[in-house]
Amino acid sequence: MKARLYAELYGFSGKKKDKQRALDYYKSLLKRFPGSRYTSKAKRAITKLGGGHPSASKSITAVPVKKPTFNKKRSNSKPRSLAEVKEIRFWSSPSYTRVVIEVESEVPYTHRLLKKDPTIAKPMRLCIDLNHARIGHGLKPVVPIADDLLSGVRAAQNSPNTVRLVLDIKSIDDYKIFSLRNPFRIVVDVSSVSMMSASKTTSKKRFKHEQEKPGGKIPKGALAKQLALGVKRIVIDPGHGGKDPGAIGYLKGVREKNVTLEISRRLAKKIRQRLGCEVLLTRNSDTFLSLEERTAIANTKNADLFISIHTNANRAMACRGIETYFLNLATDEDAILVAARENATSAKNISDLQTIFSDLMKNAMINESSRLAGYVQESLIRKLKPKYKWIKDKGVKKAPFYVLLGAKMPCILIETAFITNPRECRRLNSAEYQEDVADAIAIGLQRYIKEIHPAAPIKAHL
Ligand SMILES: [Zn+2]
Repeated sequence: MKARLYAELYGFSGKKKDKQRALDYYKSLLKRFPGSRYTSKAKRAITKLGGGHPSASKSITAVPVKKPTFNKKRSNSKPRSLAEVKEIRFWSSPSYTRVVIEVESEVPYTHRLLKKDPTIAKPMRLCIDLNHARIGHGLKPVVPIADDLLSGVRAAQNSPNTVRLVLDIKSIDDYKIFSLRNPFRIVVDVSSVSMMSASKTTSKKRFKHEQEKPGGKIPKGALAKQLALGVKRIVIDPGHGGKDPGAIGYLKGVREKNVTLEISRRLAKKIRQRLGCEVLLTRNSDTFLSLEERTAIANTKNADLFISIHTNANRAMACRGIETYFLNLATDEDAILVAARENATSAKNISDLQTIFSDLMKNAMINESSRLAGYVQESLIRKLKPKYKWIKDKGVKKAPFYVLLGAKMPCILIETAFITNPRECRRLNSAEYQEDVADAIAIGLQRYIKEIHPAAPIKAHL
């Protein structure tokens, strides 16, 4: 508490003396109570204050990490301070698999791809070394996956303070690795070519269609078929849920997790009715889902579009409006704050992550997602503005949302209104507004799909 107060004070005063006192208290906590449940908090705080505590590295991908300098001295005498590797989870489909490794607290890690070695009959392997970590009590040392991409994952204590995870590879064409916080976990996405080409079909088809159009030789029904081929499955993701209530509304008892589920259910119904697409919800009850699980569902179900539904929040009650996001580097301060809240992390962290994420985001179908966001945002404003007073168009924005990270299809996140604004909270809580929002999103999706397939039959409401 003392350390935190001094850290907070330093935030206001900017005096080195205050920062030093905060660091001193945090460090004394680590020294005197190495087994305390506050150690990881203290380590994080020290790093944040620039106290150079090595075990709390901020690195989030496998960028080479400076070796912890105090490891040798400490880890032998106090092995309890090593972070436990707690669980290995995975979601699998024929051409895409996501493996998630959950660790007790943040640790530095490195990875490398090892080629097939016929001399020792070893397949291609992806090795991930977690420094300053140990195998947790409940961790299964071998997790069989046995899909087309991976045979499984193995975990072992490679040295007194290093856990090595090995993904035994059958056949992959691409992999991505990144980490998330609270709790700390490392996410590995592997995919094969068939998946990657599938994700590019929309643009290819569009080009093909435009070429064929002048001849008009396409038989009847073929276009509907094309439409069906283009977007046949949409995953809707109601934000938050279960132990994570999301933003708390201005009105008593109104919570983001309930509003997003209501809007998502209505949206699902409308899409089924009008577009004839298959619709899946990442959750259809008040249950908790991790951010990485949401995109894992969309990827393993081979969804063609991913729509995450949220409500915005701000300390200033007067804040209001509607905005639609796609995954990219954030360029404005407000977008960073929204991403920080939805990612359950700090704005500072988002800024730190931007450069590291840039590589991941190049492959995230940014252009398609931004077009989709444009259609949906425009439709929301066009539908709601004539009916409701004070509708504010905050436009299409970009920010690094974890929930969209690694999605293999166009994906957007909609902030449907501010739950912290009295008027908008009342609206979000009403069936009428929920219905109108769902309607507007469905129309936006319809227009987007129609634009990919210009001659596709559109059923209604255009
Ligand atoms: Zn949210």
